[in-house]
Order: sequence, then C-alpha cells, then structure tokens
Amino acid sequence: MCGRTAFIAYQVARAPVRHDISNWSSGISSSGARGPKPCALLTSTSTVPQRRTVSPTIACTWSHSPTSVVVANADEPLIVWAAQTAREVVWVDTATTWTQDASLCPNCGSNLAREQPDHTAGSGGDWHCTGCDLAQPTADYRVLDGKIIDRRQQVWDPELNVPGAFNISNAACALAAAELMGVDPGTALVGMRTVSAPAGRFATAHFGDTTARLLLAKNPAGWAEALPLAQTQTVVLAIDSAAADGRDVSWLWDVEYERLAGRTVIATGPRAQDLAVRLGYAEVEHRCIPDLAAALAGHPEPVDVIATYTPFQRLRKMGGV
Ligand SMILES: [Zn+2]
Repeated sequence: MCGRTAFIAYQVARAPVRHDISNWSSGISSSGARGPKPCALLTSTSTVPQRRTVSPTIACTWSHSPTSVVVANADEPLIVWAAQTAREVVWVDTATTWTQDASLCPNCGSNLAREQPDHTAGSGGDWHCTGCDLAQPTADYRVLDGKIIDRRQQVWDPELNVPGAFNISNAACALAAAELMGVDPGTALVGMRTVSAPAGRFATAHFGDTTARLLLAKNPAGWAEALPLAQTQTVVLAIDSAAADGRDVSWLWDVEYERLAGRTVIATGPRAQDLAVRLGYAEVEHRCIPDLAAALAGHPEPVDVIATYTPFQRLRKMGGV
C-alpha cells in the first residue's frame, strides 16, 4: 500500500462505520473479533535505474507473502502476477497510464501486449501476455472519467480534497479495502474527503512573500502524475540524491519534462545541475538555483513546487507545514 492510500484508509477508519470496526491497521474490531486484513497493492515502481529488474523482484517477494486478502491494481502486470497467490483478490481497474514497470511477462518472460486505450470512451488499454495465459483480470471496481464504479455497479463521485487522477485510483483501492472491512462506500468516502494535505503533500506554504504549493514526487511514476498538476506559470523543481531520493538520478531521463515547455522553470536542490541538463535536452527554458531558499525567494505570483523526498521535507520545515 502506498503512503497516500494508507493515509486515506486511515481516514476511512476514523469515519463512523457500519460494523463497529475501530482498528483499521490490525483488522481487529473493538468487539475483539478478528476481521479481514486486506493489503492493497498498487505498484512496485522504483527510482532505481534497474527498475525493470527490481520491480519484478519486489513483486516476486510479495507473491511469496502469506497474505490472505488483497486489493490489487489490475492495470499493473507485476501486481496481478504477485497477487495470484492470495486467497482472495479484489481487482481494481485504476485507469493508470503508467506502463513502464513491465514490458515482459513475469510468469514466462514473453512480451506483454497492450491495447491502445480509447481516451474518449475511457475504455481499452488492457494488457495480456503473448506467451501464456496471464492477462488483465476483470475488475471488481473501476475508475472511469474520475468516478469510481463499485462491484454492484454503483457510481461514486469521490469529490476528494486532494488533486490528481492518481488519488482517485488510490481512493478506488481504499474503497474496495473499506468494503472488505464492512464499511459502506458512502461512509468510506466521507472519511476520504477529510484528507487534504497528507504529510504536507499539496499543502500551501509561505517562504517570505512567496506562496508555494508543495507536491511530492518520489519516482518517475510519481513525476508522471505530478507534472500535469502544476498549474502556475513558474514551476520550481527540487531534486536531491540522498538515500531516500535514490542515489542515482538517471531516472530523470524517464520523466517527460517536455510537458513544462512554455513555463518558467527553476531547477533547485543539490542535484539541480543534473536536472538542468535534462531540462536542456527537453528544450524547457529554465534557471538553475541550487539553494532552496534562493529558488523560492521573490515570486510575486504563487508557484507550484515539485520535489523529491528529501528537499520536500526540507521545504515543509522551512514553510512550517
Ligand atoms: Zn506470460
């Protein structure tokens, strides 16, 4: 379960529930009866450049874990393969567009094939192996046009207070997990809507006269989701390569920074020079200001800041959020 889904699930557990389930993390109700303990698997992506070998290794580890009930991302071949050993799987079509974690089948090594998605109809994009039976399973829950369709074909508008398609995907998985815990979808969504700035993500901070919204992106998949959220003309990108960020920043070349063409981009953080090289090849006009405080100073209009983990935590501290 990724951090955002975990946080949303935590908020679900704080909302009033139908069946007196008070302890989400342990799956033990206040009455002492042990309930299901679902585990949500969304992605095995990583910042490391060997992602195409590391991600299958992570999935392999999961596949050998004795987990009984799993909520799994049906769009991700490695997750589907890993979840097959679980006693019960609830499949969620998260409508994700990230496909760079698996090009080969984790079961037989053959090429994976994907249908071309029809973005207008919101359909297609399914995958299958060209050498064995591994294929995208039929989803119990689906994300479609920003709505969540549950296993009874009820359509829910998540109306979350956090932005981004990825948060709707997270919410769909949290909704499925909540139902496994006996929480009805309406009640679960009430809890999810109380989430606005989990651990500082999407929080607005002030740096002198500059107002900045803080976005966290921990790996190329996260950057692919965060870049479309940047709304301001000036965008600050903060990069480091501490252990929590990933020591090797070659992942910068997996991110489509070309999306920022036409914006005023500032590269900052200890690895700002590496980012500047990438932005140069993306033909994105930019300035390189490695010092975070200097990069955030003197912006009369609000700015969006996208940061890897370590500079994100520094910015939270500097901005008091
Ligand atoms: Zn296969």
